[in-house]
Amino acid sequence: MNQDKEEEIKRIKRGLSWVEIKNALQAEGCFICTIVKKSVIKYFGNILHEYALDADVHRKVISSSGLCNTHTQIIMELEKKRSDGLSIASLFETSLHKEIRILGEVEDIKYKKRTNDIAGIKSKNDLRNYKNQINEILIPTGKCAGCEQEEFTESFYTHESLRLWKDREFRKLYESEKIMLCRSHFINMISEAENIEVISYFIGVQKNKLDKLNFLLSEFIRKHDYRYQKEMTDEDVGSWSALLEYLGSKKDVRRKDYINN
Ligand SMILES: [Zn+2]
Ligand SMILES: [Zn+2]
Repeated sequence: MNQDKEEEIKRIKRGLSWVEIKNALQAEGCFICTIVKKSVIKYFGNILHEYALDADVHRKVISSSGLCNTHTQIIMELEKKRSDGLSIASLFETSLHKEIRILGEVEDIKYKKRTNDIAGIKSKNDLRNYKNQINEILIPTGKCAGCEQEEFTESFYTHESLRLWKDREFRKLYESEKIMLCRSHFINMISEAENIEVISYFIGVQKNKLDKLNFLLSEFIRKHDYRYQKEMTDEDVGSWSALLEYLGSKKDVRRKDYINN
């Protein structure tokens, strides 16, 4: 390993990101999912505690007309656990005001169309134009704040991991049995890798883990036969949920849809 890389690893391992990575590598399944989930919960927790009236946060939430479904559910659960909903009411009140205002704007287009005879909707083309005008007002311009936080965290920790891949301690934890990147975060890891050695390493480890999972899953199915039921292990039983997590990521983490067209 050249000296710069060694220095970089030492630097990362002195910092907080290593603590996060190490903790997540001691949990189960995809460690990037674990880190992302924790960071999003912390982010929304901060907003609910301290920034429910912050103008910048309001602007952000207004620009995206609220949050995506995943992050809406997360913030809802957090608020139910911590308080009575006042922070949510304060945070989203201005978004409601915007909804009422823009629906007024949408009505105005219709009103003009009705009164100006020439703008009356007579053809499919008129209708399409009318809908386009409505969409221009209704479709948000901003991205969900939770998704932005998620993407930032995913990108940061993916790059930190790519810098750590030669570190013995990282490898030992990453290669341990209970850890496996979900498909979405695995693709991202490969996409961000800077050289072929790193790619080979991550593919190799992933392949081993999938082979092991395949074995456990086949054992789980086989041991449903009453003759082998007593042989069933906890690992066998955990295989189907591990496979689902591999394909679809952890709960509360958005799976990116990588589609080849
Ligand atoms: Zn993941
Ligand atoms: Zn989101």
